[in-house]
Amino acid sequence: MIVANLTYQWLGPAVFIAAGVAFLLVFLHDRKHLPALRLSGAFFFTVVGFVAVMLIDGKLRPALQAAILTSLFVGHFLLVWGVTSLYGRKFPRLIFGCGVIVAGSIIFYSNFYPSLFWLRVAAASGFTVFVDLICAFLVWRTRSHRVDIVVSVIFFVHAAATLNRIFRVHLAGPELVSDGAFKMSPLVSSMQTENAIFAIAIGLALFARHSVSLLMRLNRLAETDPLTGLLNRRAFDARAAVLRGASAPLPTGLIICDIDLFKRVNDTYGHDVGDTVLKTVAQLLKREAGPGSICARLGGEEFCILLPESNSEMTRLVATRLRVAIETQQIVSSGRRLNLTASFGYCELAPEDELRDAMADVDAAVYQAKADGRNLVRVATPTIAEPIRLADRSKSAV
Ligand code: GH3
Ligand code: MG
Ligand code: MG
Repeated sequence: MIVANLTYQWLGPAVFIAAGVAFLLVFLHDRKHLPALRLSGAFFFTVVGFVAVMLIDGKLRPALQAAILTSLFVGHFLLVWGVTSLYGRKFPRLIFGCGVIVAGSIIFYSNFYPSLFWLRVAAASGFTVFVDLICAFLVWRTRSHRVDIVVSVIFFVHAAATLNRIFRVHLAGPELVSDGAFKMSPLVSSMQTENAIFAIAIGLALFARHSVSLLMRLNRLAETDPLTGLLNRRAFDARAAVLRGASAPLPTGLIICDIDLFKRVNDTYGHDVGDTVLKTVAQLLKREAGPGSICARLGGEEFCILLPESNSEMTRLVATRLRVAIETQQIVSSGRRLNLTASFGYCELAPEDELRDAMADVDAAVYQAKADGRNLVRVATPTIAEPIRLADRSKSAV
């Protein structure tokens, strides 16, 4: 007979369904986001076991029991798959397969002996503990944000609560010899409450995890130049402030370079080859600029580099190294080889200097290098006179 009253016990299934729908909507919005589909499936499958326990009054028929067990294993499989793919990890096939075989065998065996009812419950709940611990461990190992710590702790707490229930079922042993007796025991209501709380906590935490990774991805996209993968101007300004703060009281070194006669590359070889050249130069600058430095594409064929803890002479040396590296780099595109040069400007940037003014000065130095014949490095002359440093900076280089 089926008995269905709308009581607080429905809260658990309702939350599982809501979480399943939420992740399904995320997947329908972005079909490439497979972790959302897997997590949605995990929530939907798990709800079957829940509802069955609430609806069935008396002894479970074997077919229904098989359906409940299948939903348990499939739901947990999808949960582990969803979590591992959300965190970019491989599915732990061997360990999960062993867990399924052990739990499945115990459930099958205990099914034949009513006195082993507690063992059947222990095996099914034990499998949940096993899956919770796998997820808690995987998330902890891969954590990259504080929300991951929350996700891991929730899995761990649910494992502990479920383990506690296994012991309580075991202690109540002789009283629990059938599904009907189990359903009437206070253990079921506490199980429903625990699972409802877990469903809310883990559903929201995984959703928060999904939102955080989405925001991180959007931030990365907003900060990078799509062609070269270097920072864009806006991100450069923000990172430069951090780097200058970390280098203070020491100065930083600012370099701007502009590829020489780049229009000719486009006109001669086509825009695609021009793009390849920009990507190659960007990689070269990033590689050669040294650890801790920031590289950005200011626009077109103009790049900018900020060196940590670098005075005028050190900055000049790096700019010269970059100039030589571009000059000697052979760029091969569509079977054609071409050589490039670039013109450089640089300055030493004291912690109190205005970045915007310094960039304008260095830009003027780049134009000076162009005017002097290209493939040169020129030091910037500050527009605002500073008697002592002006003398230092007015030395031109290379
Ligand atoms: P100069 O030595 O004086 O700097 O000469 P130039 O030809 O390098 O400078 P100019 O400013 O005349 O030309 C820059 C060219 O860069 C023009 C523009 O079509 C090209 N350009 C800007 N952005 C891109 C891009 O994203 N891809 C490609 N392929 N070309 C670009
Ligand atoms: Mg140019
Ligand atoms: Mg230019």
